[in-house]
Amino acid sequence: MIIETFPVGPLTCNCTILGDEVTREAMVVDPGDNIPQILSRLQKHGLTLRQIVVTHAHIDHVGGAAQLRKLTGAPVIMNQQDLGLLGMMQMQAGWLGVPTPEVAPPDASAEDGLTVGLTTLPAQVLHTPGHTPGSICLLFHFNDQDLLLAGDTLFAGSIGRTDLPGGNGQQILRSLRERLLVLPDATRVLPGHGPETTIGEERQSNPFLQPKFRM
Ligand SMILES: [Zn+2]
Repeated sequence: MIIETFPVGPLTCNCTILGDEVTREAMVVDPGDNIPQILSRLQKHGLTLRQIVVTHAHIDHVGGAAQLRKLTGAPVIMNQQDLGLLGMMQMQAGWLGVPTPEVAPPDASAEDGLTVGLTTLPAQVLHTPGHTPGSICLLFHFNDQDLLLAGDTLFAGSIGRTDLPGGNGQQILRSLRERLLVLPDATRVLPGHGPETTIGEERQSNPFLQPKFRM
């Protein structure tokens, strides 16, 4: 498997390319910006893009999705509960002082339990609301390892902010407790920003995941 995570855009959102070396098919998660760079990385590996998944509708994660879809024909999958935020793109661009990117409604909703990804590299959608109403994580299992793409729900040493429109502090704690802390300690976690971590590492040392917050 080819897995490449690299920061895109002014807020350095982690964009991830997952590709199959045999079928040469790929999916891209969170193409927030820098679409030419994403395309050249796909080309470098000889990969054909089959699917775009967006973990939530914040501009730094979804900003390039419509453009990437237009250039490759790959469908965009995003949870429908973030359609409201997607419709607020001009306001989101205003927060950052950047031009408003082109947006388009997703081709399908990333509902909880849905299988997305490639035939040879499937992922289960975990609906983990709190950072936004439609925030999702993607759970992969291959080579005897679990891999979680956590969006902005869980970071190394922190969790997603809940003070933006649609955010909910109680909800994100429930999502973390009921959907992420139940995963095995060895689960490798690629957050939406910053370095990678594991569920075990965060269970042990993330201040937001300690018992006093877990009521
Ligand atoms: Zn976000």
